[in-house]
Amino acid sequence: MAMKLGFIGLGIMGRPMALNLRRAGHALWVYGRRVESMTPLTGAGATACRSPREVAANTDVIFLMVADTPDVEQVLLGETGVIHGARPGSVVVDMSTISPAATRAFADRLAQHGVEMLDAPVSGGETGAVNATLSIMVGGKESIFQRVKPLFEAMGRNIVRVGEHGAGQVAKACNQIVAALTIEAVSEALTFARRNGVDAAKVRTALLGGFAGSKILEVHGQRMLDNDFKPGFKVKLHQKDLRIVMEDAHKLGVGLPGTALVAQHLNALMGSGDGELDSAAIVKVVERMSGKSGT
Ligand code: NAP
Repeated sequence: MAMKLGFIGLGIMGRPMALNLRRAGHALWVYGRRVESMTPLTGAGATACRSPREVAANTDVIFLMVADTPDVEQVLLGETGVIHGARPGSVVVDMSTISPAATRAFADRLAQHGVEMLDAPVSGGETGAVNATLSIMVGGKESIFQRVKPLFEAMGRNIVRVGEHGAGQVAKACNQIVAALTIEAVSEALTFARRNGVDAAKVRTALLGGFAGSKILEVHGQRMLDNDFKPGFKVKLHQKDLRIVMEDAHKLGVGLPGTALVAQHLNALMGSGDGELDSAAIVKVVERMSGKSGT
């Protein structure tokens, strides 16, 4: 059944995700902070809005795909935010990667206005967003999840309700721990191969078929070999995600020494002006320590 949907945040991920909802036949109202970011969507028949409030006033389910926790706060609760336009019974689906604790607080605020919320961060990158093959990790009520599930199916493939509000964000934080440490491992392995005077491309190929094989060895490993750090998933976003992980770990008293190390490497990339690169650029930090070529 065609529904009235809103989509706010039309960047690398949001644009193709919104386009997939439109292709599934739904009516779409969009808001992008940069007016030009709405053009691909209006070209596909979506209606451009001047504020998140206007999006919410016209729609039943409102998707968010912005950058960080303060951005979600501004879009939801700011002066022209969703909360000022959303009708009771409507649903906010936040697909950005943000803090689990803040997510629970946003869900409470919206509930006071009769508005439901799901947290539904994703994994799978730009390719997954374009091909509608994202993994979607959901937190919130089961009944609301069931209502929104057909819409998730227009954007992704592996769709799991993990638990109550915030549980989707916790799952995404876990995903980012594994991704960060694997990028670090691939960076160290390929640098070690090169410093041994061994062809790193052949090492990658040899490893792909065995226990060390992974999507990250395949995709990020190739980026490292090509020295091609066009994003993809930006260093500044990965740094943000590990900040969320480390803040939560600090509150809970959970030691995450490996994650802390990679967080420092991402900090170093930010400091050297590499925040806009793909996070495969972690290899650059490893290379700066030990050099790149064989002796
Ligand atoms: P992006 O290309 O930087 O897009 C973010 C979008 O959000 C931009 O269009 C930006 O508007 C908008 N935005 C940010 N703050 C806003 C605010 N306060 N009000 C209104 N709009 C705002 O980032 P992305 O790669 O699409 O990532 C979006 C989210 O998905 C992030 O939380 C990220 O961690 C997560 N994620 C990304 C990937 C990936 O591979 N890229 C994968 C999984 C999850 P402007 O254009 O005006 O800046």
